[in-house]
Amino acid sequence: MSESKTIFEKIIDREVPAEILMETDDTVVIKDINPQAPVHVLVVPKRKIEHIASMGETDAGIVANLLLTATAFARENGIPSYRLVINNGALAGETIHHLHIHLLAGREMSWPPG
Ligand code: AMP
Repeated sequence: MSESKTIFEKIIDREVPAEILMETDDTVVIKDINPQAPVHVLVVPKRKIEHIASMGETDAGIVANLLLTATAFARENGIPSYRLVINNGALAGETIHHLHIHLLAGREMSWPPG
């Protein structure tokens, strides 16, 4: 793990402004700064795991909570149809090395994604 804080750690620590839409003990949901759909939020663990690929068995609870928070966010906001995305690695589009789930909704989505 790198020592410098990721942008998400700075948002979680309120050092950088962001729209935090939901917060639990170990997770935040923030509005994506460059939305790719009418609803585009990021579900982020407060404890940094760099990528889904660097997740260990002891992180399983964190990842389960991320999914539970994502589905709770959708349910509480009346969003019946949505896509959850985790980018792992540069070729897949990962730009921030702090695990996060994208939740996208509000428009028709194509498959496979580009
Ligand atoms: P990824 O490419 O999967 O690593 O996703 C990173 C996401 O973080 C992108 O969708 C960015 O638009 C988003 N992002 C980057 N900086 C911020 C920020 N300061 N606040 C909210 N979202 C951000």
